[in-house]
Amino acid sequence: MNSRTSKITVTRPFLPPLKEFEPFLEKIWKNKWVTNKGPFHQEFEEALREYLGVPYISLFSNGTLALLTALQALRISGEVITTPYSFVATTHALYWNGIKPIFVDIEPRTLTLDPRRIEAAITPQTTAILGVHVYGNSCLTDEIQKIADIYGLKVIYDAAHAFGVTQNGRSILNFGDLSVLSFHGTKVFNTFEGGAIVSHDLVTKQRIDFLKNFGFADEVTVVGPGINGKMNEFQAAMGLLQLKYIDTLIQKRKMISEYYKQGLHHIKGLHFLDEPDNVQYNYSYFPIFINHNLFGFSRDQVYEKLKEKNIWGRRYFYPLISEFPTYRGLPSSQKENLKVAHQASESVICLPLFPDLTQKEMRRVVRAVREMAGHGITAVSGVKELNKIIANE
Ligand SMILES: *Cc1c(COP(=O)(O)O)cnc(C)c1O
Repeated sequence: MNSRTSKITVTRPFLPPLKEFEPFLEKIWKNKWVTNKGPFHQEFEEALREYLGVPYISLFSNGTLALLTALQALRISGEVITTPYSFVATTHALYWNGIKPIFVDIEPRTLTLDPRRIEAAITPQTTAILGVHVYGNSCLTDEIQKIADIYGLKVIYDAAHAFGVTQNGRSILNFGDLSVLSFHGTKVFNTFEGGAIVSHDLVTKQRIDFLKNFGFADEVTVVGPGINGKMNEFQAAMGLLQLKYIDTLIQKRKMISEYYKQGLHHIKGLHFLDEPDNVQYNYSYFPIFINHNLFGFSRDQVYEKLKEKNIWGRRYFYPLISEFPTYRGLPSSQKENLKVAHQASESVICLPLFPDLTQKEMRRVVRAVREMAGHGITAVSGVKELNKIIANE
């Protein structure tokens, strides 16, 4: 296939040059230490803590086990208030802990939990709020914390999309009681698979570390019903290497996002999310929202037409979690309760966005969308400028 028709996927993991990974492998072979707090695990944990600017962090084999463990660590039970507009693992983690998810609608600017709707969903069984910094957009953390303080609730953030995002210069991973990261291959920062929990005091970090290792505090003491959530040496080595590249990778993502913004602005019936001034964003996703009447095609038509051109966007997050068989019977899953979430879910497409996306590929994406809207590409001078910038990179 030539470059006009080659497949463009929504994401692609960044892998550093294989040569740079080999010395790590040689060390692992020499040490014969493959997991259980090996030297790379310890080094990566400290390097990551420093990079992210957080007080304590515990590494995990994936984000879902980290979510499960975060809920266990704080002994969350009963009901938890959460968002339906996320990847399904967010709610599954509640379900696997025997916790009833209570869905609350999102607010339209950030697509995160709407704090104005939380209080009405609180019952005597409510123990926590589980928000998601979706697409790397910070939840309205001040408002959420205020409610949590009044009602004595814990706050956990699924920060799987929020690696490296800062607000007023401070990591948004510092909000709430715990924040959970994912380093899955599809995320901004990857260790093949991987995850972490950010905590704020040593006692909590220790409890998390015990729980991810079957509950072992020492050779003969098991403090609770733990699980196996440990990150291995191969993942940690990959993490150390990725840290060398992450700033450049985020910079590239930013350029691609700017290109899309310039190429797609002022198209009737198409909009994207604002980027607040006080936020240093990670450009993890580029969601566009299609208004069928104004744009001329429905979201699903746009999705199919892009696919015909071998451009594979993804409808993140469609269907809503509340629509899956496990959850659709819950009273809080009623469509009238989740109007904003339904609207976002029915109009969103995430465009291809990853550091290795080429200039040609970006242009193909912008052109395909503009053509659907009846616009040519050459009319946009901003795009020409950006083409130049990217060509000179
Ligand atoms: C990817 C993701 C997860 C799950 O992380 P894994 O590392 O794949 O287990 C959880 N929540 C959200 C919002 C995600 O995007």
